[in-house]
Amino acid sequence: MPESIPQLPASFYAEIENLSDSEIATTALWPFVEGSLTREELQTIVSETLSFPTPVKHIYGDVHVLELFHGPTMAFKDVGARFMSRCLSHFVEKGSETTVLVATSGDTGSAVAHGFANVEGIKVKILFPKGKVSPFQEYQMTSLGGNIQALEVDGTFDDCQALVKQAFSDSNLNEQVQLSSANSINVARFLPQMTYYFLAYKQLKKTLSGKKLIVSVPSGNFGNLTAGLIAKRMGLPIHQFVAANNSNDTFYQYLTTGHYTPKKSVATYSNAMDVGAPSNFERIEFLYDKNLASIKSDILGFTFTNKQTLDEIQQIYNLHEYVLDPHGAVGHAGLKAHLQENEVGLFLETAHPKKFESVVKQALPSYPIHDVNLKGCSKISMNNSYAEFVNHILTP
Ligand SMILES: *Cc1c(COP(=O)(O)O)cnc(C)c1O
Repeated sequence: MPESIPQLPASFYAEIENLSDSEIATTALWPFVEGSLTREELQTIVSETLSFPTPVKHIYGDVHVLELFHGPTMAFKDVGARFMSRCLSHFVEKGSETTVLVATSGDTGSAVAHGFANVEGIKVKILFPKGKVSPFQEYQMTSLGGNIQALEVDGTFDDCQALVKQAFSDSNLNEQVQLSSANSINVARFLPQMTYYFLAYKQLKKTLSGKKLIVSVPSGNFGNLTAGLIAKRMGLPIHQFVAANNSNDTFYQYLTTGHYTPKKSVATYSNAMDVGAPSNFERIEFLYDKNLASIKSDILGFTFTNKQTLDEIQQIYNLHEYVLDPHGAVGHAGLKAHLQENEVGLFLETAHPKKFESVVKQALPSYPIHDVNLKGCSKISMNNSYAEFVNHILTP
């Protein structure tokens, strides 16, 4: 967690529409890296990270979408993964080696794999739950080879996450290898995600004309939402956030009952949000001094079933000819459930529908399915066993 969160000057927000995207992102991230990177180094990392657009599009009425799927693996995680990989390779000492461990429910693994492919001095071990990622995601994780190794675990995403967390707290292991995390517990991955909230505001500012901005974030591990909360702390005029959950509604239950009760994740159509114990929960608590009332005044929660997800995809397509992916569908449903007069709504479309085409096809039978060829891809199968995992970490 950053030690402090600076306010950006009012002049920055007053003139944001005249600044380039890379200037905006550099200005937002600078206070957090000052002293570790030069402004030029940050600028370079930022331009390499945001080498694709993050457009806001109008869908209907006061509802807009922020499309975060224009990166190489077609999900918003490209932003964090690219920023983090470039930071890590900047800091890795010449001649040494760092092993990056990452647990994924699908999109993190592919974004991290592509972010780190062929980066010198870095090996990546990706853990994904067997049979619970889409063929397209599996292809993206297992087709690179080289320094990227995919481990298919006979278990759930939470099992994968638990194995990775155990490795980080294993002092014996940490004496033998230099480990780094690539999940949104890594500050270099979750923090750069705040940049597109600023870029969205730049695009929407004129449209707001006195109305309040509500941003709905389809959430799993809550890294994306936490980055948005930090942007708000820095003065970005977002009135409230909607945390949109699928049936893995630990956070929604927390908002409703005041009790945080992690549970086992269940498989849903929006599988990148199948998280029963969101790893950024503690960050949110910390931001609000564990005060439930203030958390609730900034974040509204909703939860949606698979059926509601499909209905949402169908409806938005039938009414507005916009194809949602299942995560964006949950995000839109959350926005719709809350949005009031005098508010402008923005929801995050976190992945391209093509990544989840078999789900989209259930809602829109005419949606094309692309054949994914996993031939030539490589993965290693393992049990949900820490001892086995350590062996894989220690084998070159
Ligand atoms: C990871 C992911 C999410 C959830 O983001 P968190 O930061 O984990 O809350 C939502 N949608 C898609 C497509 C994702 O890949």
